[in-house]
Amino acid sequence: MAIENVDQSRIVSELDADRPDADAYRKLATALRSRVDGGVEFDEYARVLYATDGSIYRAEPAGVVFPTDVDDVRAAVDVATSHGVPVLPRGTGSSLAGQTVGPGCVVLDLSRHMTDILEVRPDEQRARIQPGVVQDDLDDALAAYGLKFAPDPASSNRATVGGGIGNNSTGAHSVRYGITDAYTEAVTAVLSDGSVIDAREVVLDSPEWDEIVSKDDREAEIYRTVRRVVEDNADEIEARYPDLKRRVTGYNLDRVIYENEDGDRVMNLAKLFVGSEGTLGVIVEAEVSLVTVPEETALALYCFDDLDAAMEAVPVALEYDVSAVELMDDEVFRLAADSDGYAEYVEPIPDRAAAALMLEYDSELHDDFEAAVARTTARFVDEGAAFDVVEAYTDDAQEELWKLRKAAIPLLMSLDGDPKPYPFIEDATVPPDELADYVRKFEAVLDDHDTSAAYFAHAGSGTLHIRPILNLKAEAGIEAMHSITEDVTDLVLEHHGSFSGEHGDGMARTEFTPKMYGPALWDAFKQVKTAFDPEWWMHPGNVVYRDGPDDIGPAADRGVGADMRENLRYGADYQSIEPQTTLDFEGEGGFSHLVELCNGCGTCRQTGDDVMCPTYRASKEEIQTTRGRANLLRAAISGDLPEEELHSERFQEEVLDLCVGCKGCKSDCPTGVDMAKLKAELKHQHHRAAGTDRRERLFANIDTASRVGSALAPLSNWASELPGARLVMQKLFGIAPERTLPTFTRETLVDWFEARGGTTVARADADRSALLFPDTYTNYSYPAAGKAAVETLEAAGVHVTIPDDTAPSGRAAFSTGLLDRAEERARANVDRFADRVAGGWDVVFVEPSDAVMFQDEYPDLLDGADVAAVVDSAYGIMEYLDTYRLDEALPIEDRSLGVADAISYHGHCNQKGTNKDHHAVGVLRRVGYDVDPLDTTCCGMAGSFGYHDEHYDLSKSIGRLLFDAVDESDGDYVVAPGGSCRSQLGDRDGVDDIPPHPIEAVADRL
Ligand SMILES: Cc1cc2nc3c(=O)[nH]c(=O)nc-3n(C[C@H](O)[C@H](O)[C@H](O)COP(=O)(O)OP(=O)(O)OC[C@H]3O[C@@H](n4cnc5c(N)ncnc54)[C@H](O)[C@@H]3O)c2cc1C
Ligand code: SF4
Ligand code: SF4
Repeated sequence: MAIENVDQSRIVSELDADRPDADAYRKLATALRSRVDGGVEFDEYARVLYATDGSIYRAEPAGVVFPTDVDDVRAAVDVATSHGVPVLPRGTGSSLAGQTVGPGCVVLDLSRHMTDILEVRPDEQRARIQPGVVQDDLDDALAAYGLKFAPDPASSNRATVGGGIGNNSTGAHSVRYGITDAYTEAVTAVLSDGSVIDAREVVLDSPEWDEIVSKDDREAEIYRTVRRVVEDNADEIEARYPDLKRRVTGYNLDRVIYENEDGDRVMNLAKLFVGSEGTLGVIVEAEVSLVTVPEETALALYCFDDLDAAMEAVPVALEYDVSAVELMDDEVFRLAADSDGYAEYVEPIPDRAAAALMLEYDSELHDDFEAAVARTTARFVDEGAAFDVVEAYTDDAQEELWKLRKAAIPLLMSLDGDPKPYPFIEDATVPPDELADYVRKFEAVLDDHDTSAAYFAHAGSGTLHIRPILNLKAEAGIEAMHSITEDVTDLVLEHHGSFSGEHGDGMARTEFTPKMYGPALWDAFKQVKTAFDPEWWMHPGNVVYRDGPDDIGPAADRGVGADMRENLRYGADYQSIEPQTTLDFEGEGGFSHLVELCNGCGTCRQTGDDVMCPTYRASKEEIQTTRGRANLLRAAISGDLPEEELHSERFQEEVLDLCVGCKGCKSDCPTGVDMAKLKAELKHQHHRAAGTDRRERLFANIDTASRVGSALAPLSNWASELPGARLVMQKLFGIAPERTLPTFTRETLVDWFEARGGTTVARADADRSALLFPDTYTNYSYPAAGKAAVETLEAAGVHVTIPDDTAPSGRAAFSTGLLDRAEERARANVDRFADRVAGGWDVVFVEPSDAVMFQDEYPDLLDGADVAAVVDSAYGIMEYLDTYRLDEALPIEDRSLGVADAISYHGHCNQKGTNKDHHAVGVLRRVGYDVDPLDTTCCGMAGSFGYHDEHYDLSKSIGRLLFDAVDESDGDYVVAPGGSCRSQLGDRDGVDDIPPHPIEAVADRL
């Protein structure tokens, strides 16, 4: 879905108008637009968005095309090449070696439209797909048949199958299943001359073969060349291709001709497309084979006193029919123990462990897991190599160990400062029985370069993710990277390995490919490339390069040379401005460091569980990912865009305003890119420069409007429904006329509390005393939730009061970027609460966004011991009940699970973003509800966002994801703590009532 308020027709922006080649770009873009049905984006923003991927590289493309089908791809290739511009296909862009960026290319983003699963043939264990389908989406569709696509890259929740074929991806289970080339049976691809090739098994010298090669066309030339090259180089292929489960460097000359199941000698060019990284053609369809999903698995984690002993144990582990052998070292454990998110997962692992090997057993290979684990334990622990074992049989226990293993990269990438563990030789692979010696020598290489690294990943397949810690913003760091790569590639060859065993060649490895294969095969690669793509239009210089302009290929310098030190995202010249900020960014290493923490991994494009990133989920547009926003921000602070661009209307509207500020990225982004905080700071700076508009002022002061509305209720409620009233709101304040505005109650929560004579529990009789914060929505529009909170707390023996001297929390002002106002309010509340908190009071909130405002935003706005004390005493109501197990004191007779209703629970994104959301589910279950916690993101309302006229469609699109989750849930009804979420749910077609807050459900049990 294209977001309507983004100008899709923009081709060459004003920013580009002065560039010398602007005319050429305009012509190319215009020609593409006239031939392609999908979108064409050629302006500076699009180029920034597609200049990076998950790697250390950066190169601006010419522009981006979003093909809808094979005809679009053909048209785009034709137009680009006839304008002298190379072509680069792209999926999610999560590649780590720089193979998804290409200077001056037309990028074809196949992940937006070409995402269909065309056919599943369960009996044959085959599926036909379009390249842009996300691998987890494919697996979800296959689950009904008990099948899956076997290669399982850690990035499978956002990576496309087309990209996986492009890279020859694989994952932790390659020990059992091998890699993508084994499962790619056929591909349909568009070649650089616009012709379409159906690559599949063709029996050599069969009538079909003779017919193909007898023609005078590109396809015939390809078949003839590939056969000649493979047959002429048979001995070199035998000698030079390492005997490994994972070998991703170079073209698959060793796999393209083979004997098939019928005993025929066949050529299958699909195997050559696998791992070709977009250099041979654009895959528009693929047929993949599938495997059955094991019903159950178990894990055993063996703990070693040193890394060397763990490495020595790898070949032994492989003797036991295990489906994965994964390594983690003490650096990973140390970082996990120090982190908020992963500390609990590292707890079962003894402190003494310097390294651990995690073995997986599956039910297709083992009948009795405990017996299987006992056998490996006898071999490792009883014989003394390992000193302990952690066993995991339940799904939850296994999931925690996998989470710890997969956290390694993000934990390492979030290290403070400029030196970072960068990927460039991080997936070199050697035979598992040579791993121990290889690692010892690798450590010596790191010592020689005065650096260190963590050791982890797929030990069972001989692939360790070793990322040396370097500063790539300094010339010395860049040269060290090159020198380490020289040394490590020598070492890999000495150990019969492959420079890449997982992540591909890209800009990082292509320079070294000739060293691995020698001159004859290097020449063979060039001949194969030229047969497919005589003019080297397809992603030139990747996987294979030309040794000079006179080398085979075009009479131009396209595809000449490769140097891993070029096109770096940072580099010695990189500089960024560090703006003066109002919020405190010290904890994040500064504003620019927080922006630069985005490494392009693409996790913010995942659509499974987690909150991040709702706007991408609804729009499927790169600019609406956390990554897109971070990339544009980095461009503006580092000079790739003019600094003033930060204040342009376009930047404000498309980059900042469309971020709903849900805080999902704060917790879900592996490196913690907190875009909501960056946005608040930037909006604030923009307001300082450009002022605020009427609507921003209205929402920032929504408490005043609500107070008036409540005082005038029910008149104010009728007035808002008068004919024309919505039109007036739209004209005056830009409020969407389709939105139902909140109604106000005449008796506020504070009035009710006073009228009932205050609390019923004397302070002297209570263990705890709570100040219930009268937030704007609860107080003026929905007092029922506040009353339920008071009644529940009192039933639990808590002394409660509702103060009438509070300021609004400042959340509304903060979200709008009115930080001075937010700070004023924060100061007022801290001043009012500090003494009471010192006197033992807790501050409790019905509204999650206000609770999080106190807990997470106040420390960014204010300093001081009084602030810290108030922050430490602030709780959401469900968090409060859970933390002190107050619900256990409630007079509820029967607490058995399911005795009460089945309810669906939609948590608040701000609480999810601060790891506070689990409390509600625990409490609801303990009082008897059968709770289905929905895997939902932000509701799309996000405070005032959903009321904005121009954001209404996006808000509703995000909301629909929530509505679908509610519909699919077995709950009798839905509960949600957030006022915005309840408004969004209540504003759904066919729904009349606002759903309850979970505290109302708890109160109902009294
Ligand atoms: C944190 C993290 C963990 C990762 N873990 C793994 C892992 O465990 N195993 C692993 O193998 N990789 C891993 N990767 C690398 C990467 O995510 C995978 O290789 C993934 O399969 C790439 O999919 P993509 O859609 O992002 O492809 P992209 O990065 O978009 O493209 C990959 C290559 O394929 C080409 N390509 C894309 N689509 C087409 C097409 N239709 N036709 C022709 N060529 C095409 C591109 O030009 C590019 O060269 C990881 C990356 C990150 C950031
Ligand atoms: S914002 Fe975070 S999740 Fe998204 S690409 Fe950047 S680092 Fe990855
Ligand atoms: S705050 Fe929410 S909407 Fe904004 S970038 Fe982060 S996850 Fe996306």
